[in-house]
Amino acid sequence: MSQFELGIVGDYFVPVTECSTAGAVAASDRLGLTRNTFMGVSGGKIVTIEPFTEVLRSRCQKFIDASRSKVVLPGLVNTHTHLAMSLFRGLHDDLPFSEWLFQNILPLESRVVDEAFVRLGTRLSLYECVRFGTTTVNDMYFYADAAAEEVSRAGLRGLISQVVLSAQSPECRVLGSDKKRLLERLVDRWKGSETVRVGVAPHAPYTCSDETLSWVAAEAKRLQLSVHTHLSETQFEVDQSIKQHGLTPVQRFQRLGIFDSPVIAAHSIYLTDADIRIMVASGASVSHCPDSNLKLSSGVAPVAQYLASRLRVGLGTDGAASNNSLNLFGAMNLGVKLQKWVGGSNTAMVASQVLRMATIDGARALGWDSKTGSLEVGKNADFIVVDLDYPHLQPVNDVISHLVYSTTGLEVETTVCGGVVLMRDGEFCGSGLSGEDFENVRDQVASLAGGF
Ligand SMILES: [Zn+2]
Repeated sequence: MSQFELGIVGDYFVPVTECSTAGAVAASDRLGLTRNTFMGVSGGKIVTIEPFTEVLRSRCQKFIDASRSKVVLPGLVNTHTHLAMSLFRGLHDDLPFSEWLFQNILPLESRVVDEAFVRLGTRLSLYECVRFGTTTVNDMYFYADAAAEEVSRAGLRGLISQVVLSAQSPECRVLGSDKKRLLERLVDRWKGSETVRVGVAPHAPYTCSDETLSWVAAEAKRLQLSVHTHLSETQFEVDQSIKQHGLTPVQRFQRLGIFDSPVIAAHSIYLTDADIRIMVASGASVSHCPDSNLKLSSGVAPVAQYLASRLRVGLGTDGAASNNSLNLFGAMNLGVKLQKWVGGSNTAMVASQVLRMATIDGARALGWDSKTGSLEVGKNADFIVVDLDYPHLQPVNDVISHLVYSTTGLEVETTVCGGVVLMRDGEFCGSGLSGEDFENVRDQVASLAGGF
C-alpha cells in the first residue's frame, strides 16, 4: 500500500512560510525557497515536506514530477471577485466609473441576472481560476447559493457572500425580498462544509442605507459571518459620504457596527489615517485590486503605507467586467510596480511581498490561513506548478522575480486543491471541471456573446 495518495517533487519549492507582509520586508526574502523538495499528501493534507530521494517516488499512489525547471508554490488566493460577471467581459469598457456602474452594469444586472446566469458565469470563471493557479476565491454576488454549489462541485475553496443592497436585487423576483430568510437558508445549507464558507456582502456604502448596514451588522454578528464589501473605492464616494453623513465610509461602517465582524474591504483606495486605525484595530483586511482600480480610473491604493501601518492586505482581481480577467499573476506584476511609483521608491514594495499578498496574506484576510495560503505540514494540499521552460523565463536567476515580473499566468501547468488534481499539464481533469465540460461551457457562453 502506498504511503502517500499524492506526491510531488519540485525543482524549486516556494512554500511562502515565515513572516507576514505587514511591516517591513527585505528584498532578500526568499519565502522559504528550497530546491529538489518532496511534498507528500494524504487525506487531502500535506503530511511531509522533505528533500527528495528516489525511493519516495515508489511510495506515492500518484506522483507529479516537477523536478526539471518547474516551481511548486501555494495555490493563489483571490480576495475579491464576482465570478458570475465573467459573462459581462468586454461589455461597456472605457467608461467613467459612475457611468459604467449606474448607467450600465446595475441596469444590465437587473435585466439579465438569474440563477442560470450565475451558474454559467461562475463555472466559466472557475475554469479561468484553475487555469491561472487560483485555488481559493472570495466571491460576492447574487444567487450566492448557486455560486457556492458551483465552487463546491468544481473542488475549489470559496468564501461566498450574499450581496445585500437597499434597493431590490435581481434575485428578489424569484427568491423574494426576505433577506433574513435568504441568509439563514444559505448559512444552514453550507454549515460544516470543508471547502465553502458563506458570508454577507453589503454591496457598498452608497448602495446601502444606514438601516440596511445596521441590519447587516446585526446579522453578521448573530450568524458569525464575515463581511465582504466595496469600501472607499473612489474620492467621490468618500466626499459624498462626508457630505451626507458627516463621516467617511469607514467611520460610518464603524458607527453602524460593521467592523464588529471580520471585514474584507475591496479597493479601499481613499483611507484616511483615522480610517486605517479603525480597520487595524478591528482586524479588517483590504483586498487590493490594482487592475480594476486603474481600469475604472478610481486611483491607486497606497498599499505600502497600509502595510507599514500593519493593515492586512490581500490581492484581488475584482470581476471580469472591470479587469478584464481573473489572473492574479497579472495583478501581482501590476500591483508591485504601482507601489514603487506611488511610494516614490523602488523598495516601496518588493516581489516577495506581493507574492505573499497573493497567497498567505490573502488566506489570512479570509480567516483561512490555518488551511491554505502556504505549503506547511498539516495544511490542505492547495498548490500549483509553474513551468519555467519558456524563453521569457530563462535563465532562472531569481525564481521569485520570475513569478512576479515575468510569468503571464499561462505557464501554470498543474493546479491541485485539497490534494485533488484539477489541472495537469494544462488539461482540466477534475470530476467537476473537466475538458469535456469546459467545451460545453464554452459553447453556451459563446452563444451569449453580443446578446446582452
Ligand atoms: Zn467588486
